[in-house]
Amino acid sequence: MREKRESPILVTRSFLPPFEEYAEMLKPIWDSAWLTNMGVYHEEFKERLKEYFGVKNLELFVNGHMALELVIQSMELDGEVITTPFSFSSTTHAIVRNGLTPVFCDINPNNYTLDVDQIEGLITERTCAIVPVHVYGNLCDMERIQEIADKHHLKVIYDAAHTFGETFEGKSVALWGDASMFSFHATKVFNSIEGGAVVFRDDRLEKRLYELKNFGITGYEKVEYVGANGKMNEFQAAMGLCNLPHVESEIEKRKALVMRYRENLEGIRGIRLCKEDPRVRYNYAYMPVVFDGYKRDRDQIFEDLKEHNIMARKYFYPCINSYECYRDRFRAEDTPVAAAVSKQVLTLPLYGELPAEIVDEICGIIKEVH
Ligand SMILES: *Cc1c(COP(=O)(O)O)cnc(C)c1O
Repeated sequence: MREKRESPILVTRSFLPPFEEYAEMLKPIWDSAWLTNMGVYHEEFKERLKEYFGVKNLELFVNGHMALELVIQSMELDGEVITTPFSFSSTTHAIVRNGLTPVFCDINPNNYTLDVDQIEGLITERTCAIVPVHVYGNLCDMERIQEIADKHHLKVIYDAAHTFGETFEGKSVALWGDASMFSFHATKVFNSIEGGAVVFRDDRLEKRLYELKNFGITGYEKVEYVGANGKMNEFQAAMGLCNLPHVESEIEKRKALVMRYRENLEGIRGIRLCKEDPRVRYNYAYMPVVFDGYKRDRDQIFEDLKEHNIMARKYFYPCINSYECYRDRFRAEDTPVAAAVSKQVLTLPLYGELPAEIVDEICGIIKEVH
Protein backbone atom coordinates (compact mmCIF):
# COMPACT_ATOMS: atom_id res chain seq x y z
CA MET A 1 0.00 0.00 0.00
CA ARG A 2 1.31 3.44 -0.91
CA GLU A 3 1.62 6.25 1.62
CA LYS A 4 -1.38 8.54 1.87
CA ARG A 5 -0.36 11.92 0.43
CA GLU A 6 -0.68 15.21 2.32
CA SER A 7 -2.77 17.30 -0.04
CA PRO A 8 -5.21 15.71 -2.42
CA ILE A 9 -4.76 15.45 -6.18
CA LEU A 10 -7.92 17.02 -7.54
CA VAL A 11 -9.51 16.18 -10.86
CA THR A 12 -8.39 19.54 -12.18
CA ARG A 13 -6.48 22.64 -11.20
CA SER A 14 -7.24 26.07 -12.65
CA PHE A 15 -4.68 27.46 -15.06
CA LEU A 16 -3.20 30.74 -13.84
CA PRO A 17 -0.88 33.05 -15.75
CA PRO A 18 2.33 34.35 -14.10
CA PHE A 19 1.12 36.64 -11.29
CA GLU A 20 2.93 39.71 -12.65
CA GLU A 21 1.19 39.43 -16.01
CA TYR A 22 -2.22 39.72 -14.40
CA ALA A 23 -1.14 42.28 -11.80
CA GLU A 24 0.12 44.55 -14.57
CA MET A 25 -3.28 44.51 -16.21
CA LEU A 26 -5.00 45.76 -13.07
CA LYS A 27 -3.45 49.25 -13.06
CA PRO A 28 -5.49 50.58 -16.02
CA ILE A 29 -8.67 49.33 -14.33
CA TRP A 30 -7.80 51.37 -11.23
CA ASP A 31 -6.89 54.41 -13.32
CA SER A 32 -10.15 54.40 -15.23
CA ALA A 33 -12.35 53.12 -12.38
CA TRP A 34 -14.31 51.30 -15.12
CA LEU A 35 -14.97 47.86 -13.63
CA THR A 36 -17.66 46.37 -15.82
CA ASN A 37 -20.28 47.19 -18.49
CA MET A 38 -18.34 46.56 -21.67
CA GLY A 39 -15.06 48.27 -20.79
CA VAL A 40 -11.76 48.44 -22.67
CA TYR A 41 -10.62 44.88 -21.80
CA HIS A 42 -14.05 43.49 -22.62
CA GLU A 43 -13.86 44.95 -26.12
CA GLU A 44 -10.26 43.86 -26.62
CA PHE A 45 -10.96 40.31 -25.41
CA LYS A 46 -13.93 40.08 -27.74
CA GLU A 47 -11.82 41.10 -30.76
CA ARG A 48 -9.01 38.72 -29.83
CA LEU A 49 -11.44 35.84 -29.53
CA LYS A 50 -13.02 36.62 -32.89
CA GLU A 51 -9.55 36.36 -34.43
CA TYR A 52 -8.81 33.20 -32.47
CA PHE A 53 -11.98 31.47 -33.68
CA GLY A 54 -11.83 33.05 -37.13
CA VAL A 55 -15.43 34.29 -36.86
CA LYS A 56 -17.31 37.51 -37.45
CA ASN A 57 -19.91 37.24 -34.68
CA LEU A 58 -19.13 36.67 -31.03
CA GLU A 59 -20.58 37.97 -27.78
CA LEU A 60 -19.03 37.69 -24.31
CA PHE A 61 -20.92 36.70 -21.17
CA VAL A 62 -20.37 36.51 -17.43
CA ASN A 63 -20.35 32.70 -17.67
CA GLY A 64 -21.08 29.91 -20.10
CA HIS A 65 -24.50 29.17 -18.68
CA MET A 66 -25.85 32.69 -19.20
CA ALA A 67 -24.36 32.60 -22.69
CA LEU A 68 -26.35 29.47 -23.50
CA GLU A 69 -29.53 30.63 -21.82
CA LEU A 70 -29.47 33.98 -23.57
CA VAL A 71 -28.57 32.74 -27.03
CA ILE A 72 -31.54 30.38 -26.81
CA GLN A 73 -33.72 33.32 -25.73
CA SER A 74 -32.41 35.46 -28.56
CA MET A 75 -33.79 33.00 -31.14
CA GLU A 76 -37.38 33.35 -29.85
CA LEU A 77 -38.05 29.64 -29.94
CA ASP A 78 -41.20 27.85 -28.89
CA GLY A 79 -41.86 24.15 -28.31
CA GLU A 80 -39.55 21.17 -27.97
CA VAL A 81 -35.78 20.99 -28.03
CA ILE A 82 -33.89 17.76 -28.65
CA THR A 83 -30.89 17.42 -26.37
CA THR A 84 -28.75 14.94 -24.46
CA PRO A 85 -29.19 13.72 -20.87
CA PHE A 86 -25.43 13.05 -20.73
CA SER A 87 -24.14 16.53 -19.95
CA PHE A 88 -23.71 19.07 -17.20
CA SER A 89 -26.94 20.42 -15.66
CA SER A 90 -26.48 23.72 -17.46
CA THR A 91 -27.48 22.36 -20.87
CA THR A 92 -31.01 21.28 -19.93
CA HIS A 93 -31.53 24.08 -17.40
CA ALA A 94 -30.87 26.64 -20.15
CA ILE A 95 -33.63 25.06 -22.24
CA VAL A 96 -36.16 24.75 -19.42
CA ARG A 97 -35.51 28.24 -18.06
CA ASN A 98 -36.49 29.51 -21.50
CA GLY A 99 -39.90 27.86 -21.18
CA LEU A 100 -38.99 25.17 -23.71
CA THR A 101 -39.50 21.43 -23.37
CA PRO A 102 -36.41 19.23 -23.47
CA VAL A 103 -36.71 15.94 -25.36
CA PHE A 104 -33.88 13.59 -24.44
CA CYS A 105 -32.12 11.68 -27.17
CA ASP A 106 -29.76 8.85 -26.23
CA ILE A 107 -26.02 9.02 -26.86
CA ASN A 108 -23.79 6.80 -28.97
CA PRO A 109 -21.49 4.46 -27.06
CA ASN A 110 -18.39 5.51 -29.03
CA ASN A 111 -17.86 9.13 -28.11
CA TYR A 112 -20.89 9.80 -25.86
CA THR A 113 -22.40 12.56 -28.03
CA LEU A 114 -25.96 12.43 -29.45
CA ASP A 115 -26.83 9.23 -31.30
CA VAL A 116 -27.67 10.91 -34.59
CA ASP A 117 -29.64 7.88 -35.81
CA GLN A 118 -32.21 8.51 -33.09
CA ILE A 119 -32.77 12.24 -33.60
CA GLU A 120 -35.33 12.09 -36.41
CA GLY A 121 -37.51 9.64 -34.49
CA LEU A 122 -37.93 12.29 -31.78
CA ILE A 123 -38.91 15.17 -34.07
CA THR A 124 -42.54 16.32 -33.85
CA GLU A 125 -44.31 19.36 -35.26
CA ARG A 126 -43.42 21.14 -32.03
CA THR A 127 -39.66 20.61 -32.37
CA CYS A 128 -37.82 23.90 -32.87
CA ALA A 129 -34.17 23.18 -32.13
CA ILE A 130 -31.42 20.70 -31.33
CA VAL A 131 -28.98 21.43 -28.50
CA PRO A 132 -26.16 18.90 -28.81
CA VAL A 133 -23.10 18.78 -26.55
CA HIS A 134 -19.52 18.10 -27.62
CA VAL A 135 -18.96 15.86 -24.60
CA TYR A 136 -15.38 15.87 -23.15
CA GLY A 137 -14.33 17.69 -26.32
CA ASN A 138 -15.50 14.75 -28.45
CA LEU A 139 -17.24 16.35 -31.39
CA CYS A 140 -20.80 15.51 -32.37
CA ASP A 141 -21.53 14.26 -35.88
CA MET A 142 -22.03 17.85 -36.99
CA GLU A 143 -22.55 17.02 -40.67
CA ARG A 144 -25.46 14.66 -39.94
CA ILE A 145 -26.98 17.01 -37.37
CA GLN A 146 -26.93 19.88 -39.87
CA GLU A 147 -28.58 17.69 -42.54
CA ILE A 148 -31.38 16.78 -40.15
CA ALA A 149 -31.78 20.38 -38.99
CA ASP A 150 -31.95 21.67 -42.57
CA LYS A 151 -34.51 19.06 -43.56
CA HIS A 152 -36.80 19.90 -40.60
CA HIS A 153 -36.03 23.63 -40.32
CA LEU A 154 -34.54 23.41 -36.85
CA LYS A 155 -32.00 25.62 -35.13
CA VAL A 156 -28.80 23.99 -33.91
CA ILE A 157 -27.19 25.44 -30.80
CA TYR A 158 -24.06 23.63 -29.65
CA ASP A 159 -23.03 23.41 -26.04
CA ALA A 160 -19.33 23.66 -26.93
CA ALA A 161 -18.27 24.34 -23.33
CA HIS A 162 -15.63 21.57 -23.55
CA THR A 163 -14.12 22.44 -26.91
CA PHE A 164 -12.10 25.64 -26.62
CA GLY A 165 -9.20 25.46 -29.07
CA GLU A 166 -10.54 22.50 -31.04
CA THR A 167 -10.72 22.29 -34.81
CA PHE A 168 -12.50 19.99 -37.23
CA GLU A 169 -10.73 19.47 -40.55
CA GLY A 170 -8.50 22.41 -39.73
CA LYS A 171 -11.29 24.87 -38.97
CA SER A 172 -12.71 26.01 -35.63
CA VAL A 173 -15.59 23.95 -34.26
CA ALA A 174 -17.33 27.28 -33.64
CA LEU A 175 -18.24 27.46 -37.32
CA TRP A 176 -20.87 24.73 -36.99
CA GLY A 177 -24.56 25.22 -36.24
CA ASP A 178 -26.46 28.45 -35.72
CA ALA A 179 -24.53 29.13 -32.54
CA SER A 180 -21.97 27.59 -30.19
CA MET A 181 -21.49 28.34 -26.51
CA PHE A 182 -18.01 28.23 -24.95
CA SER A 183 -17.35 28.27 -21.22
CA PHE A 184 -14.32 29.97 -19.69
CA HIS A 185 -15.00 28.67 -16.19
CA ALA A 186 -12.00 28.25 -13.89
CA THR A 187 -12.06 24.47 -14.39
CA LYS A 188 -12.02 24.57 -18.19
CA VAL A 189 -8.97 24.32 -20.48
CA PHE A 190 -9.12 28.09 -20.99
CA ASN A 191 -10.52 30.35 -18.28
CA SER A 192 -11.41 33.95 -17.55
CA ILE A 193 -12.11 33.04 -13.88
CA GLU A 194 -15.76 32.67 -14.86
CA GLY A 195 -16.86 33.60 -18.33
CA GLY A 196 -18.34 32.47 -21.59
CA ALA A 197 -18.97 33.37 -25.19
CA VAL A 198 -21.40 32.65 -27.96
CA VAL A 199 -20.32 32.42 -31.58
CA PHE A 200 -23.33 32.85 -33.89
CA ARG A 201 -24.18 32.86 -37.56
CA ASP A 202 -27.04 35.38 -37.90
CA ASP A 203 -25.70 38.99 -37.81
CA ARG A 204 -29.02 40.21 -36.42
CA LEU A 205 -28.41 38.39 -33.13
CA GLU A 206 -25.53 40.68 -32.24
CA LYS A 207 -27.68 43.57 -31.07
CA ARG A 208 -30.20 41.24 -29.40
CA LEU A 209 -27.56 39.34 -27.41
CA TYR A 210 -26.03 42.59 -26.24
CA GLU A 211 -29.43 43.81 -25.07
CA LEU A 212 -30.38 40.53 -23.41
CA LYS A 213 -27.22 40.39 -21.33
CA ASN A 214 -27.91 43.96 -20.23
CA PHE A 215 -31.40 43.50 -18.71
CA GLY A 216 -33.17 43.83 -22.08
CA ILE A 217 -32.43 47.55 -22.12
CA THR A 218 -32.69 48.74 -25.72
CA GLY A 219 -32.23 52.45 -25.38
CA TYR A 220 -32.30 55.41 -23.11
CA GLU A 221 -35.34 54.92 -20.85
CA LYS A 222 -36.40 51.92 -22.91
CA VAL A 223 -36.58 48.24 -21.91
CA GLU A 224 -38.01 45.94 -24.61
CA TYR A 225 -37.07 42.47 -23.38
CA VAL A 226 -37.09 40.44 -20.19
CA GLY A 227 -33.31 40.24 -20.17
CA ALA A 228 -30.79 39.18 -17.54
CA ASN A 229 -27.50 40.43 -16.20
CA GLY A 230 -24.97 38.47 -18.25
CA LYS A 231 -22.15 40.99 -18.59
CA MET A 232 -18.51 39.95 -18.32
CA ASN A 233 -16.55 42.33 -16.07
CA GLU A 234 -13.09 43.82 -16.64
CA PHE A 235 -11.29 41.53 -14.21
CA GLN A 236 -12.59 38.51 -16.07
CA ALA A 237 -11.70 39.95 -19.47
CA ALA A 238 -8.20 40.80 -18.20
CA MET A 239 -7.73 37.19 -17.06
CA GLY A 240 -8.96 35.96 -20.43
CA LEU A 241 -6.53 38.24 -22.26
CA CYS A 242 -3.71 37.06 -19.99
CA ASN A 243 -4.49 33.38 -20.44
CA LEU A 244 -5.08 33.34 -24.18
CA PRO A 245 -1.37 33.31 -25.18
CA HIS A 246 -0.81 30.37 -22.80
CA VAL A 247 -3.58 28.12 -24.05
CA GLU A 248 -1.53 26.35 -26.73
CA SER A 249 1.15 25.24 -24.27
CA GLU A 250 -1.52 24.16 -21.79
CA ILE A 251 -3.09 21.96 -24.48
CA GLU A 252 0.30 20.49 -25.39
CA LYS A 253 1.02 19.59 -21.77
CA ARG A 254 -2.38 17.98 -21.39
CA LYS A 255 -1.87 16.05 -24.59
CA ALA A 256 1.36 14.52 -23.27
CA LEU A 257 -0.43 13.44 -20.09
CA VAL A 258 -3.34 11.93 -22.01
CA MET A 259 -0.83 9.95 -24.09
CA ARG A 260 0.71 8.72 -20.84
CA TYR A 261 -2.69 7.63 -19.52
CA ARG A 262 -3.33 5.85 -22.80
CA GLU A 263 -0.01 4.00 -22.73
CA ASN A 264 -0.89 2.81 -19.25
CA LEU A 265 -4.52 1.86 -19.82
CA GLU A 266 -4.88 0.94 -23.49
CA GLY A 267 -5.72 -2.66 -24.34
CA ILE A 268 -6.86 -3.65 -20.85
CA ARG A 269 -9.98 -5.81 -20.86
CA GLY A 270 -12.94 -3.99 -19.35
CA ILE A 271 -11.42 -0.51 -19.74
CA ARG A 272 -12.70 1.66 -22.56
CA LEU A 273 -10.99 4.85 -23.74
CA CYS A 274 -12.34 7.28 -26.35
CA LYS A 275 -11.12 6.70 -29.88
CA GLU A 276 -9.60 9.76 -31.50
CA ASP A 277 -10.96 11.05 -34.81
CA PRO A 278 -8.05 12.05 -37.07
CA ARG A 279 -10.08 15.00 -38.44
CA VAL A 280 -10.19 16.60 -34.99
CA ARG A 281 -7.53 18.61 -33.22
CA TYR A 282 -8.39 17.96 -29.56
CA ASN A 283 -7.88 20.17 -26.51
CA TYR A 284 -7.55 17.28 -24.02
CA ALA A 285 -10.03 18.83 -21.63
CA TYR A 286 -10.84 15.59 -19.79
CA MET A 287 -9.60 12.05 -19.34
CA PRO A 288 -12.75 9.91 -19.30
CA VAL A 289 -12.38 6.18 -18.71
CA VAL A 290 -15.29 3.74 -18.94
CA PHE A 291 -15.17 0.62 -16.76
CA ASP A 292 -17.34 -1.95 -18.49
CA GLY A 293 -16.83 -5.47 -17.26
CA TYR A 294 -13.57 -4.57 -15.51
CA LYS A 295 -12.52 -6.54 -12.42
CA ARG A 296 -13.68 -3.66 -10.22
CA ASP A 297 -16.56 -1.33 -11.01
CA ARG A 298 -16.46 2.45 -11.40
CA ASP A 299 -17.53 3.20 -7.84
CA GLN A 300 -14.87 0.89 -6.40
CA ILE A 301 -12.16 2.51 -8.51
CA PHE A 302 -13.40 5.91 -7.37
CA GLU A 303 -13.11 4.81 -3.74
CA ASP A 304 -9.68 3.21 -4.26
CA LEU A 305 -8.35 6.45 -5.72
CA LYS A 306 -9.94 8.45 -2.90
CA GLU A 307 -8.15 6.16 -0.44
CA HIS A 308 -4.92 7.51 -1.94
CA ASN A 309 -6.21 11.09 -1.76
CA ILE A 310 -6.80 11.22 -5.51
CA MET A 311 -10.12 12.76 -6.44
CA ALA A 312 -11.47 11.54 -9.75
CA ARG A 313 -14.93 12.67 -10.79
CA LYS A 314 -18.10 10.81 -11.77
CA TYR A 315 -18.72 13.07 -14.69
CA PHE A 316 -21.50 12.97 -15.80
CA TYR A 317 -23.42 11.24 -13.07
CA PRO A 318 -26.34 11.12 -12.62
CA CYS A 319 -27.88 11.70 -16.05
CA ILE A 320 -29.93 14.87 -16.28
CA ASN A 321 -33.18 12.98 -16.85
CA SER A 322 -32.86 11.41 -13.40
CA TYR A 323 -32.21 14.65 -11.47
CA GLU A 324 -34.70 15.33 -8.67
CA CYS A 325 -35.97 18.39 -10.54
CA TYR A 326 -36.67 16.45 -13.77
CA ARG A 327 -37.29 12.90 -12.70
CA ASP A 328 -41.11 13.25 -12.54
CA ARG A 329 -41.22 14.31 -16.18
CA PHE A 330 -38.64 11.95 -17.72
CA ARG A 331 -37.41 8.41 -17.46
CA ALA A 332 -33.73 7.55 -17.42
CA GLU A 333 -34.63 4.15 -18.95
CA ASP A 334 -35.58 5.94 -22.16
CA THR A 335 -31.90 6.71 -22.75
CA PRO A 336 -30.27 3.39 -21.77
CA VAL A 337 -26.81 4.07 -23.21
CA ALA A 338 -26.52 7.36 -21.31
CA ALA A 339 -27.83 5.67 -18.16
CA ALA A 340 -25.24 2.89 -18.45
CA VAL A 341 -22.25 5.10 -19.30
CA SER A 342 -23.04 7.50 -16.46
CA LYS A 343 -22.64 4.57 -14.04
CA GLN A 344 -19.40 3.37 -15.65
CA VAL A 345 -17.45 6.52 -16.40
CA LEU A 346 -14.81 8.24 -14.34
CA THR A 347 -12.84 11.30 -15.41
CA LEU A 348 -9.30 11.10 -14.08
CA PRO A 349 -7.17 14.05 -12.89
CA LEU A 350 -5.87 16.11 -15.80
CA TYR A 351 -4.29 19.56 -15.95
CA GLY A 352 -1.10 20.92 -17.47
CA GLU A 353 0.89 20.97 -14.22
CA LEU A 354 -0.05 17.42 -13.20
CA PRO A 355 3.22 15.44 -12.81
CA ALA A 356 3.50 12.49 -15.19
CA GLU A 357 4.47 10.26 -12.26
CA ILE A 358 1.07 10.88 -10.71
CA VAL A 359 -0.53 9.65 -13.93
CA ASP A 360 1.48 6.44 -13.59
CA GLU A 361 0.50 6.16 -9.95
CA ILE A 362 -3.20 6.61 -10.75
CA CYS A 363 -3.00 3.94 -13.43
CA GLY A 364 -1.14 1.68 -11.01
CA ILE A 365 -3.97 1.98 -8.48
CA ILE A 366 -6.52 1.22 -11.19
CA LYS A 367 -4.58 -1.86 -12.30
CA GLU A 368 -3.80 -3.10 -8.80
CA VAL A 369 -5.02 -6.60 -8.00
CA HIS A 370 -6.89 -6.75 -4.71
C1 LIG B 1 -19.02 24.19 -17.77
C2 LIG B 1 -20.18 23.78 -18.59
C3 LIG B 1 -21.29 24.61 -18.80
C4 LIG B 1 -21.51 25.91 -18.07
O1 LIG B 1 -20.51 26.79 -18.15
P1 LIG B 1 -20.23 27.84 -16.97
O2 LIG B 1 -19.22 28.75 -17.57
O3 LIG B 1 -19.71 27.06 -15.81
O4 LIG B 1 -21.49 28.54 -16.68
C5 LIG B 1 -22.27 24.18 -19.66
N1 LIG B 1 -22.22 22.99 -20.26
C6 LIG B 1 -21.19 22.14 -20.06
C7 LIG B 1 -21.18 20.84 -20.78
C8 LIG B 1 -20.15 22.50 -19.20
O5 LIG B 1 -19.16 21.63 -18.96
